[in-house]
Amino acid sequence: MKINVTRSSMPSFEEYIEEIKPLWDSRWLTNMGAKHNELEESLCNYLLCKNVSLFTNGHLALEAVIASLNLTGEVITTPFTFASTTQAIVRNGLTPVFCDINPEDYTMDASKIESLITEKTSAIIPVHVYGNVCDVEKIEKIAKKHNLKVIYDAAHTFGVKVGNKGIGSFGDASMFSFHATKVFNTIEGGCVTYSDDTLTQKLQIQKNFGMKDSENYTEIAGNSKMNEFQAAMGLCNLRHVDKEIEKRKKAVQRYMERLNGIKGITAWKEQKGVTHNYAYFPVMFDKDVFGASRDEIAQKLSENGIFARKYFYPLTNEFECYKGKFTLQSTPIAKKAASEVLTLPLYADLTSEDVDLICDIILNV
Ligand SMILES: *Cc1c(COP(=O)(O)O)cnc(C)c1O
Repeated sequence: MKINVTRSSMPSFEEYIEEIKPLWDSRWLTNMGAKHNELEESLCNYLLCKNVSLFTNGHLALEAVIASLNLTGEVITTPFTFASTTQAIVRNGLTPVFCDINPEDYTMDASKIESLITEKTSAIIPVHVYGNVCDVEKIEKIAKKHNLKVIYDAAHTFGVKVGNKGIGSFGDASMFSFHATKVFNTIEGGCVTYSDDTLTQKLQIQKNFGMKDSENYTEIAGNSKMNEFQAAMGLCNLRHVDKEIEKRKKAVQRYMERLNGIKGITAWKEQKGVTHNYAYFPVMFDKDVFGASRDEIAQKLSENGIFARKYFYPLTNEFECYKGKFTLQSTPIAKKAASEVLTLPLYADLTSEDVDLICDIILNV
């Protein structure tokens, strides 16, 4: 028996075949086809956002929106994230400035942003890490005051709501990832959500070789269009995503019942006023109190065929590729979190029995 950290959600084979059948008549396989356009419209409704622009993956969506907003100089961001966030900033020729996180929900500590702003700062790129919502109000206030753009890496927050607002409606834009391992997948895929209609053409140009029309190339850009087979998978998965999130919630509740209140363990918790998507279940292990380190627990689990992830370790401000190129601000709270965190297996079909087995192993280390 083997339990991986995640397992992709899929529709039935028959449902997918039915969805892709028309492609054998239309012979229109990519370049903003019927499935692509239907998915954009469905996602506007589901995510409660004014505009959605689809991409072949989340990372290229983030690169494209950064390029579309014409950012320059420095961008304030978090090192407690997947490589993609920082790489997208650097690949756009920008300098990442690292802000520490708060120890409550591991998102950017908004009270530390202003001290990092210089005359070169053009934007803030925070991450709704693990599906936890950033301090969107405070970040908006700071951005307004200093005339900065805000792009959220919302890769973890598909379907999350704050009150009755879609998480993708905050800031100038948000990027969602539809990678196979995420709550909602299009095999690989992603999107940008935004309110300003003038971004539509800019994103279109970015994803299609810098082409404004067939005779005018106005930007230096690559290719990051979503194809029809990806969009068809998205249309199918979207029909089931609410049920999948409901099942994830059950697994998370069982984890919380088993791990809350154990000395030395800090497990994920809900945020007030937020409708969560139960994307991840991160747990912090304080070795001195719990008696075993994160690494020892990960080792014990893997000996039992259970694969948790040190997500996120290492921090991006410790990546070898940035050494000597940037001032890598130290972020002690993020560093502590990266040394203690283990993200436990979580997916819709993970049963309560599976969760109990995982918790039994952890509690017996
Ligand atoms: C998955 C992920 C991405 C990248 O998305 P892809 O669709 O895999 O390119 C970016 N940021 C974060 C935080 C992620 O977890």
